[in-house]
Amino acid sequence: MASRLLVTHALKYANGSLHLGHLVESVQTDIFVRAMNAMGKECIFICASDTHGTPVEISARKAGVRPEEWIEKIHREDSEDYKAFEIDFDLFYTTHSPENEQHVRRIYQKLDAGGHIVRRNVEQMYCPTDKRFLPDRYIRGTCPVCGTADQYGDACENCGSTYEPTDLKNPRCAIDGNTALERRTSLHYFVQLKDFEPFLREWTSTPGRLQPEIKNSIDKWLSEGLRDWDISRDAPYFGFKIPGEESKYFYVWLDAPVGYLSSTDKWCQDHGRHVEEFWKSDDCDVIHFIGKDIVYFHTLFWPAMLKASGWNVPSRVHVHGMLTVEGAKMSKSRGTFLNAREYLDAGLDPEWLRYFYAANLGPNASDIDLSLNELKNRVNGELLANVGNLANRALSLIWKNGGRLTKCQTVERWRDLEQEIGELYIRCDTRAVVQKVLEFSSGANQHLQITRPWEKLKTDRNSALEDLTWAVNVARLCARWLSPIVPRFAQGVEEQTAPLEWGDFKPLEDIAIREPKPLVRKVEDADIQKLASRFVSPPAAEGPATPEVTIDDFGKVDLRAGKILSAERIPKKDKLLKLSIDLGEGAPRTIVSGVAQSYAPEELLGKVVAVVANLPKKNFGKGLESHGMVLFSGGGAREHTAVELPADVAPGSKVK
Ligand SMILES: [Zn+2]
Ligand SMILES: [Zn+2]
Repeated sequence: MASRLLVTHALKYANGSLHLGHLVESVQTDIFVRAMNAMGKECIFICASDTHGTPVEISARKAGVRPEEWIEKIHREDSEDYKAFEIDFDLFYTTHSPENEQHVRRIYQKLDAGGHIVRRNVEQMYCPTDKRFLPDRYIRGTCPVCGTADQYGDACENCGSTYEPTDLKNPRCAIDGNTALERRTSLHYFVQLKDFEPFLREWTSTPGRLQPEIKNSIDKWLSEGLRDWDISRDAPYFGFKIPGEESKYFYVWLDAPVGYLSSTDKWCQDHGRHVEEFWKSDDCDVIHFIGKDIVYFHTLFWPAMLKASGWNVPSRVHVHGMLTVEGAKMSKSRGTFLNAREYLDAGLDPEWLRYFYAANLGPNASDIDLSLNELKNRVNGELLANVGNLANRALSLIWKNGGRLTKCQTVERWRDLEQEIGELYIRCDTRAVVQKVLEFSSGANQHLQITRPWEKLKTDRNSALEDLTWAVNVARLCARWLSPIVPRFAQGVEEQTAPLEWGDFKPLEDIAIREPKPLVRKVEDADIQKLASRFVSPPAAEGPATPEVTIDDFGKVDLRAGKILSAERIPKKDKLLKLSIDLGEGAPRTIVSGVAQSYAPEELLGKVVAVVANLPKKNFGKGLESHGMVLFSGGGAREHTAVELPADVAPGSKVK
């Protein structure tokens, strides 16, 4: 690895709010950068808003503002959200910048001068009422491959096929719904990607550059043959104009990755540095973190653009998996599409999420699942009860017994463990980092259980304080190894003791500590409930639905509100309760319900419940006659849960 690193995460598209799915990448990249800096590399972390293209234009139009205002608003909100989650960019810039336009032009001119740009007429769909061509997301219609209705112009969400907008069946304009579309020809610009095939084969085959499973899918694309890449869009378009053209623009995917380079340039200008130190130096590695959905752009188009224009190509592209929530894809309709801001507004601690993501993310591109219960259990059981407890218990006892560390045995023998943890950080295997630290911390906690300094304080105070000083030193190692993951937690340990520094194995001895405070708040059920209360359950697995009834069929059922006046057990019938129910008929009815194992009789008193009033009487023998049926639901904590109505509903009211 080079001594200087330039790390990026995918530019955030300025089309909507930052959500917990985006944060998987942000947290993973931020942890990597913090770890590299801690280990003594110069590591610069660059990101920007990705601002151009049709979705931004559509969103701005819907909001009734100019695209420039829209992207500024999103950039402001995203900056605040990133900050709250401790995503520590050196620069979070924008692709709508003069630096980016300049770099885009230069790269385009190099591609053109190298003979890699071809121009040819293509047939496009055109909306005469909007007076514009309809690329990508501006057109909808039926998938030409699988026949699914209402698909965008570039790809089918059902079968995953990609196609041209002109292939769509029954196409309509996505802006005004116009179906009377025309086919018009327009001159488009293409990059001949196949010119770069030999280079791309070599670049993708270099060890350490790509994860094996990612390399496999790229090999498949390479063997299928590289198609020319359409890099132009007709006006009106929100983006950069193609030099020499009046009404043609660069496709957003051409200028977006250039944002990595141009934002580095901006950072360099602001810090008296030169962009060449990062993008033309032999001693700098450019490392991109991305999601699975944009591998093609980052491993084929982007390296080709850099190669053609004489910049360094990326040393490594790290791909992470996608986030599911409670076992399923994030979904707006199921309430599991969680924005960063919603998480913060619910009062949840960002470090809980950072810890949870780190504990689940490994070196490969597997998806990870956010289970709120698991988040609670891991934060409380591991970060708090294991590492946090080690630090807090030792520091609190020392605080109450003079507040000074005493002597400590050497901690030098854990240098190898730190080396190992450093390697795991380089591989982005934070799941293994967390496991290592937890094992180490557990061992120290067990050791304290044996030496029991809290008891020894009364008999052998010096030895007890030495045990505790040792525990503080071990806890400091844990905090330092976890500091890239939970920086505020580690900062708490520093504030209570002394600064943490990687590679420093001189034990901390003979100094005064500061008053211990909790390093992280416990996750309460109420915290989890604040987010979980919005989740809509998937369909209950209660077997197939019964056949449909007509509204007339349903009307035959006389449903009434009934107030339970008394409830009692029936001798020798341990499943039945005898209820006396006021149905507003002058005299109460007796109804027998088979819920004695779900409710004690007194629990039902006074409840207003839903009753089927027009069932025939049923004889239970010994003079016990039931007239009607009280409704109960399954699926709750008890086998039967009464279908209750609010207490102010008068007995006898019709339920319809
Ligand atoms: Zn399809
Ligand atoms: Zn239209």
